[in-house]
Amino acid sequence: MNPSLVYEVLIANSELKEYFTGEEIQVFSDYLTCQKVEIDSPVMEEGEPADCLMYMLSGKARVLVEGIQIGEIEVGDFFGESMFSHEGARSATVQAVDSSVVAVFTLEDYAKFIRSASGFALKFRNYFNAIGSKRREQKQGLLFKDDRKYLALIAHNEMKSSLAEFVKQHSDVIGRFPLVATGTTGMMLYKETGLVLGRKVASGPLGGDQAIGTLVSTDNVCGIIFFRDPLSAHPHHADIEALGRLCDVYQIPFATNPGTAEAILTYLIKEGARNNIRNQVLEKYRNQQQKVLKGDA
Ligand code: PGA
Repeated sequence: MNPSLVYEVLIANSELKEYFTGEEIQVFSDYLTCQKVEIDSPVMEEGEPADCLMYMLSGKARVLVEGIQIGEIEVGDFFGESMFSHEGARSATVQAVDSSVVAVFTLEDYAKFIRSASGFALKFRNYFNAIGSKRREQKQGLLFKDDRKYLALIAHNEMKSSLAEFVKQHSDVIGRFPLVATGTTGMMLYKETGLVLGRKVASGPLGGDQAIGTLVSTDNVCGIIFFRDPLSAHPHHADIEALGRLCDVYQIPFATNPGTAEAILTYLIKEGARNNIRNQVLEKYRNQQQKVLKGDA
């Protein structure tokens, strides 16, 4: 399918024309790549990393969750909106019903888009985010709360190959936990080891370490394996320090090299290990803040 047809399908069949000008849709369509899909083949699969979204240009597809059909996709519809959400993996499979053509927009395309037309790119991102949240609310109900306890995986660039090797060696244990990783570490682990995340956050220097810190504060982290590079300076040094400090506040095991990482895996799989240790730091702090609230401090 030639690129101008992508634009024609988006203008004629998608909802984009209700929110964007023709010029904006034209610029966006230049970043999409066409892909043919055979009848009954998967277009995207549940559990894969959520790293692109797609528009249906011709044909038809069905949406399946755990093998059960929950919807249909027609020409002009888009799917894969979790690309811009915190969800690391796809929650549904999309399978072609007819021989079809889709237009693919990846995170790398978005990075190029934002570099050359940041205003347009952000507007598209906001649009996909808004539709994505609406669809997620419909799926999960308004009261959905993530109460999973993630094992967080992070590695500085010089330590990424060491983390990949560690993950390969311990894949049976690591695979038992829901996983979260900073942006580049997560993509690298998928490529090198096939590991799929339950949740994704930004790249470390762009706030990913702080995002994992937030998960620590909401009781969503059981342990952190962060292979730090001790021989280089890092622009986000303060964020790395802050993450370690929060682990001390909440008494979350924090491993910074393969030896301690092995020790925390052993600790984490020991049933009930976390419940036996009293957190005096938190107790003391909470008592003191109660006094502040009562005016006794
Ligand atoms: P990255 O971030 O996984 O995006 O490389 C890691 C870090 O430097 O904190």
